[in-house]
Amino acid sequence: MSKILIIEDEKAIADIIAFNLKKEGFEVSEAYDGESGLAAALDGDADLILLDVMLPLMDGFEVLRRLRTRSSVPVIMVTAREEEQDKIFGLDSGADDYITKPFSMKELIARVRANIRRRAEEPASPARSVPAFGPFSLDEDLRQLLKNGKPLELSQREYDIVAYFLSIPPRVVSREELMKNVWGYDYYGDLRAVDVAMRRLREKLEDDPANPKYLMTKRGSGYYLQK
Ligand code: CA
Repeated sequence: MSKILIIEDEKAIADIIAFNLKKEGFEVSEAYDGESGLAAALDGDADLILLDVMLPLMDGFEVLRRLRTRSSVPVIMVTAREEEQDKIFGLDSGADDYITKPFSMKELIARVRANIRRRAEEPASPARSVPAFGPFSLDEDLRQLLKNGKPLELSQREYDIVAYFLSIPPRVVSREELMKNVWGYDYYGDLRAVDVAMRRLREKLEDDPANPKYLMTKRGSGYYLQK
């Protein structure tokens, strides 16, 4: 099921878009200002983002600019006026598509589907990715991990976990170390977030997550990557 993140400050509009997308079988989450929208975009695993231009705290252009330093997720900009469209083109903002308010739900859903399909059909560029371990390779430009040449749908954090393991010599890494280096803060008492993230990552990486071949647990000490 494809996941859509809606960043739109008018909650009534966000809700009606969400309602219609859910009816079409999409999984939907919402954010109501630029800052929390960017955080959700960087943290989550959306397959596509609907990004309003006029937003409190940080406008849609700034959200997109910052997002693009870390993610290539498809973004459809939602503009209210012609000047905003001009700005999208003028800035070469990194948007994949745009749609102008008011729009019909039918058109919006068609655009969403088209952009997700286009992304899925894009061939992975094996020339750019470098072998990492086992059947996996890494595309640092797109921040993607590929398995047998096909991009995996990892969240930013999951990617960061893999990238961290690859940046160090092979050894067991404690949960505290992962928390500090991947989450970016010190241990405040709950390391279960690490275990949850590792379990999810294992489900995405491993053929048989119950019997992992790559992302290994060293009981009582932490995790290691079997290269
Ligand atoms: Ca708005």
